[in-house]
Amino acid sequence: MSGASALLADVFGFDAFRPGQAEIVEAVSAGENVLAIMPTGGGKSLCFQLPALMREGVTVVISPLIALMRDQVRALQEAGVAAGALTSGNTPEETDEVFEALEAGRLKLLYIAPERLAAGSAVGLLRRVGVSLIAVDEAHCVSQWGHDFRPDYLKIGALRRDLGVPLAAFTATADAETRAEIISKLFGDEAPRSFLHGFDRPNIHLAFAAKDGPRRQILDFAAARKGQSGIVYCGTRAKTETLAAALREAGQTALHYHGGMEAEDRRIAERRFQREDGLIVVATVAFGMGIDKPDIRWVAHADLPKSIESYYQEIGRAGRDGAPAQTLTLFGPDDIRLRRSQIDEGLAPPERRAADHARLNALLGLAEALKCRRQTLLRYFGETDVSCGSCDLCDRPPEVFDGTVAVRKALSAILRTDERFGAGHLIDILLGHETDKMRQHGHVTLPTFGVGKEYDRRQWQAVFRQMMGHDLIRPDPERHGALRMTDAALPILRDQAGIELRKDSIRQAGSRRVAVKMMVSEEDAPLLSALKAKRRAFAEAAKVPAYVIFNDKTLIEMAEKRPQTVDALARISGVGAKKLERYGNAFLEVIVGEVQPMHPTRRKLAGRTAGSVYDQLLEVQATLARGEAGQDKPLSCSSSQLAKLAQLRNADAQTLEKLLGDRRAERFGLAFLDVLREAG
Ligand code: ADP
Ligand code: ZN
Repeated sequence: MSGASALLADVFGFDAFRPGQAEIVEAVSAGENVLAIMPTGGGKSLCFQLPALMREGVTVVISPLIALMRDQVRALQEAGVAAGALTSGNTPEETDEVFEALEAGRLKLLYIAPERLAAGSAVGLLRRVGVSLIAVDEAHCVSQWGHDFRPDYLKIGALRRDLGVPLAAFTATADAETRAEIISKLFGDEAPRSFLHGFDRPNIHLAFAAKDGPRRQILDFAAARKGQSGIVYCGTRAKTETLAAALREAGQTALHYHGGMEAEDRRIAERRFQREDGLIVVATVAFGMGIDKPDIRWVAHADLPKSIESYYQEIGRAGRDGAPAQTLTLFGPDDIRLRRSQIDEGLAPPERRAADHARLNALLGLAEALKCRRQTLLRYFGETDVSCGSCDLCDRPPEVFDGTVAVRKALSAILRTDERFGAGHLIDILLGHETDKMRQHGHVTLPTFGVGKEYDRRQWQAVFRQMMGHDLIRPDPERHGALRMTDAALPILRDQAGIELRKDSIRQAGSRRVAVKMMVSEEDAPLLSALKAKRRAFAEAAKVPAYVIFNDKTLIEMAEKRPQTVDALARISGVGAKKLERYGNAFLEVIVGEVQPMHPTRRKLAGRTAGSVYDQLLEVQATLARGEAGQDKPLSCSSSQLAKLAQLRNADAQTLEKLLGDRRAERFGLAFLDVLREAG
């Protein structure tokens, strides 16, 4: 594994593997067939990029989206890796370049679009250029039942057999059906080694809030994160447009996005989002698959998502670079009603509808959770050993109260009115309001009339919402607005079970305070924005997204650790050798002002032990430049000789002599050996 670790540090600038990466890299580079399921942001790309560098020949990467392929290729090239793409988006020059590099045996990674596989010539080409590994990104696109199905993905299995090389497939979609389909379509009867990786995304902060002036809630959330890229998901197309306009009015840069837009306009929005820093896209769930932006800093739901799976997928678009990201999901009784009726009015068979209700229930359970959201969320995905500290409930545990009596009163109001009324009228009954409707239905004489005066209307609304959240009551699909009791409520009604409700959503204070959330502490913030400005300048000059230069996590670490030397800079995660060479000085200048020039040979050793060994050799050499007595002819070693020495392991006199020649070995040999022994 040490070869892989060295490449990880040198090429990508990372000092450690993320969980699971090491085993996958090992298996893939050993030539095993692999299916790896990792959550978005888990670092899948590295799991085929590193093995590609370790193996002989070319690795073909099949990936569904041209724009994303191009970005990955740019990012690899920035890191000094010979990568190219063959897609319909290429200019003729780009295509020529790729072919040239291929024929010359220079290319390590070749990205191709699945459509290319349809052309018969593809197989011939791939065989000729010595493809030794196939990597398939977004492997679930092979699934005919999924929404991302790509017919050309079905050709991959045959390609693997024709070329007779190992295949590594990657996806974030973990359900068992899709997994089985991927295996049968891509691997046939040679079952791959499977890796299933955890679903926790510890850098994503989770939060829910009951709707209470939802537009204002979203505007505040965005205002606290001004200048950071974010997505707001909305339930309807119309709302994406009005909310985007409201955000613009509030001084944000915001676009709307939905499936009803012209394809061209959608592409423009996707592209701007991908490239620009600090843009907000207000979108329906149509916005997703085409997005591979690692530095999305926040995701807000202006409306409740459809299910717990959708929720996980949508918030999961935030913070793929591993730097902190925030989410906020708003929900209210209307959302619950809407989602229920969408399921009830859908065309799915009854058992499917029941399953959809259950998945919605899981999400509502999360929304109304009383303890850690992360634990509640991951428990649903089968993970029990979860630590958190990064959700609204861990930040501030909710106040709870025994809601059994309140719930029983509400249920009684529902049952005594034959489950024919909605929350508004039911609350009037509980509060004892003598409205016309009340008299008309003769409800003033009900025993339940006026039994709920201990709470006000708002508080009762929160009780009803939580009852819906716990699936104790559901909107009646037959009768608009009416609430029916579910079987889940029976034990409470019969006094066999109690229920705790949250107090904070009952009496939510209207305090409106927008504290700007910064990604670093106050004193590091100015430096971070200076580093970002420098990054933007490079990104614009190279016409690449900002994260291709350095991602947010790397800049945050720079702002916090403030490296003073090239060596210290090289030790920042995300600063590989190539990037150090290209951008090191410019970023160091932002941090320390002027930077002392450094010999290029020495720079290559930056951040490594060999670097400081080199410095010591240089010092020793200076003291001996004119011999022990200081009277001999000046003599010195070349910088490349020193660099070679500095990287030697188990140096001895003979090696030294071979490297330096007699005269230099005689003058410096013993002193150098001392330095090397000390270091080794
Ligand atoms: P996905 O699994 O969603 O395809 P990516 O491969 O795009 O994720 O990786 C997400 C981010 O994590 C990228 O910004 C990448 O540079 C970063 N990353 C991957 N591996 C590591 C690592 N070992 N250490 C630090 N950052 C990493
Ligand atoms: Zn928590």
